[in-house]
Amino acid sequence: MFKAILIDKDDSGYHARQTDLDDDRLPAGDVTVKVGWSTLNYKDGLAITGKSPVVRSFPMVPGIDLAGVVESSEHADWKPGDRVVLNGWGVGEVHWGGLAGKARLKGDWLVPLASPFTLRQAAAIGTAGYTAMLCVLALERHGVTPDKGEVLVTGAAGGVGSVAVAVLAKLGYRVVALTGRPEEADYLTRLGAADIMDRAPFAEPGKPLAKERWAGAVDVVGGQTLANICAQMKYRGTVAACGLAGGMSLPATVAPFILRGVTLAGVDSVMCPRPDRLEAWQRLGRDLDPALLDELTTEIGFDEVIPTAARILEGKVRGRVVVPVNPE
Ligand code: NAP
Repeated sequence: MFKAILIDKDDSGYHARQTDLDDDRLPAGDVTVKVGWSTLNYKDGLAITGKSPVVRSFPMVPGIDLAGVVESSEHADWKPGDRVVLNGWGVGEVHWGGLAGKARLKGDWLVPLASPFTLRQAAAIGTAGYTAMLCVLALERHGVTPDKGEVLVTGAAGGVGSVAVAVLAKLGYRVVALTGRPEEADYLTRLGAADIMDRAPFAEPGKPLAKERWAGAVDVVGGQTLANICAQMKYRGTVAACGLAGGMSLPATVAPFILRGVTLAGVDSVMCPRPDRLEAWQRLGRDLDPALLDELTTEIGFDEVIPTAARILEGKVRGRVVVPVNPE
């Protein structure tokens, strides 16, 4: 038996509850992992509350991340005792995920736990942190170096945003943090933000082209905010866009792209090919200060997962949330 969050859908609606499950209910897969630490991401909030149709098969164990230890394996790359990380691949959406004591998965989805991280730290990074690093890599690939100018990070007090601020600042960029939570200014400064801006004006309709300000941007908000950021990019600047916390639309014009050579670089973590994942995790080992990772991590109990799922969608959760399942 193992504990799990289980989401069901029936005629009376959508229900998430904590329960105990027998091992024989685990889905098909060639590796069974004892989950050490799980996490709560924005997408897990959508899945657990049912606010968006993230879950596409029922019943479902949510949890798009896990860090744990291989219990048994029929996959050539993995043996019992190996410490592994899993992010994405539809886990917690179409395949049972990490908010459970055990997970049975495809060995091809697993990444070895990168040094120097503990299981807790790997979970703390999770999909949000690894996506933040994919965004940083996208900026680098498009030639955004610290000497080119300021970089804007939106949703800065959230999971992706907090890690992006910490990593970019450590790499020497001048980071401006966009947030709706002025009370988190000290926190964002500790992570490395050089300046804090209020997100509210970015949500208002703006001009197709505005004064050039940003060499790069990491955007988790989307919608009008992303459109305004594109309009404020410097000549040949790059926006790494990965989120929709403020909306799915993009009410922009082509002006920034055809007149300023701006690049809008889309970032997806879910189906991201394995070599890029390994690169992102290796770079996190180098470019994310473990002390700052601890600073941006909050631990909640397994029985707090369901209430916290609603809070993350309200933008009330700071940084990253980790859940001890079978902690070492
Ligand atoms: P999170 O921890 O909840 O952070 C989101 C942050 O966005 C909030 O803390 C808040 O930051 C800001 N925000 C929330 N609602 C907003 C609104 N209506 N308008 C403007 N800003 C708002 O979530 P996360 O895990 O960092 O994920 C952020 C987004 O990225 C989500 O949309 C998620 O689905 C997406 N994501 C995508 C990928 C991918 O593979 N493409 C991977 C991970 C995450 P402030 O309080 O600082 O303003």
